[in-house]
Amino acid sequence: MYFADIPAPDHLKKRLLYMAQQKQVPHAHLFWGPVGNAALPLALAFTTYLNCHQPSPEDACGTCKSCLQLRKLTHPDVKFIFPTATTTNKTPDTSGKQLLPAWSAFLGEQPYGHFLDWSNYLGTTKSQPLITKAAITDLTQYIMLNAFESSYKVNLIWLPEYMHPAAAHALLKILEEPTAAQVVFLLISHSPENLLGTIRSRLQQMYIPPFTDEAMQQIITQHYQQQLTDTTDVATIVKLAAGNAQKAYQLITDNQNDFMQHFVHWMRICYAYDFSKLVAEVDAFQAYDKATQKHFLMYSLWMLRQIWVARLQVMQLLQVQQAEREIIQKLGAILDEETIQQMNAWIQQAHFCIERNLNAKIVFLNLSLKVTQVFKAVRQQQQTI
Ligand SMILES: [Zn+2]
Repeated sequence: MYFADIPAPDHLKKRLLYMAQQKQVPHAHLFWGPVGNAALPLALAFTTYLNCHQPSPEDACGTCKSCLQLRKLTHPDVKFIFPTATTTNKTPDTSGKQLLPAWSAFLGEQPYGHFLDWSNYLGTTKSQPLITKAAITDLTQYIMLNAFESSYKVNLIWLPEYMHPAAAHALLKILEEPTAAQVVFLLISHSPENLLGTIRSRLQQMYIPPFTDEAMQQIITQHYQQQLTDTTDVATIVKLAAGNAQKAYQLITDNQNDFMQHFVHWMRICYAYDFSKLVAEVDAFQAYDKATQKHFLMYSLWMLRQIWVARLQVMQLLQVQQAEREIIQKLGAILDEETIQQMNAWIQQAHFCIERNLNAKIVFLNLSLKVTQVFKAVRQQQQTI
């Protein structure tokens, strides 16, 4: 990945180039901002630039031994740490070494992908991928060795918010202790508030904003060309993605439709108060892995926001596709603001419970029963009018 490939703001690229050229590279640097931004590609381009043998003032050369090794993610002085999990086909791989080829392929396909995309890519079982203590311990041994052939020994940690608590404490210990000047830690996070405050305070931070519409257009034509069909409406996708390149990819590949259908089906069952269908729906929710369960709840929260917007009669602000618009308008007509807020709080609570490993079946059944009660009250009100 090179700076020239990334349609990120020039001032951010210039700052990174300046750090490298002036040899003022921070010991630990955090790239943060919303999901679907340029944080990971920028960190990769920065890593490539730092160790390039013939860099120009704007970018790495792309042809030296270091650049070629980085392109294949086989650079001996660059270590990648990312969430790993037991996969359906593979043996447990806590350090991520076996998964490096998969991660490399994932980056090639979805350079703006997020946790759930990676989780799906791995084909994980119900265990949620995380960064293990073993991966960080491995790092401790790695940084003790002197750099082999490069200016910098770079440790790139993708999504440190998914570190196991023991891993987080091990990383804190590494950051607290003095290491050789050429050892650099680059962290890429979309939820830095979930990092230990003691880790965060040791990081030099750089905020990476969402993409502009022009940048999104460029990303779609450069990276997602293969996924585009004759019927893909790029202009609408740019608008709906709202600066989030991961969302653009989802819209193009239609992953979101599964959630929409599930959400619509779920709402209809709750409205009809059909208990046998509700039990089947609860089973369907339980069959999702934990990450997908949380993602579905996040999607439901997003749909509630859209329903709230629809109630305000500002349809032009709706960031939805046509199929979603229909159910949003129907629900917007029967749910008042207080009920939407109440449902919002219940879904957030369910998300909190799933996060803390409570039984998914019970959590989702409990949530669904509350929603059925809301609809029951709505029906009674309509009958009394
Ligand atoms: Zn080079």
